[in-house]
Amino acid sequence: MSDNLSVSLDGTRCKSYGICVSVMPEVFDTPPGSPTAVLLRDTVDADEREDLEEAARACPAQAIALNSGPKP
Ligand code: SF4
Repeated sequence: MSDNLSVSLDGTRCKSYGICVSVMPEVFDTPPGSPTAVLLRDTVDADEREDLEEAARACPAQAIALNSGPKP
């Protein structure tokens, strides 16, 4: 098994633009009434890495951080 990639979302930066949700709806969601996006899970598989990197790049608020390797 390859290492998972963990993802974190900075709620103080996120402006709920929802771009991450359109890139990876399986990881990000913008629940009704929530001021920020939320993570549906905080790790992704290695084969989802490119999509996650795209979501992080696309975030105008730079609220998405990726961390390689298993969670500490
Ligand atoms: S793209 Fe960035 S600012 Fe927009 S909802 Fe996702 S994390 Fe928040």
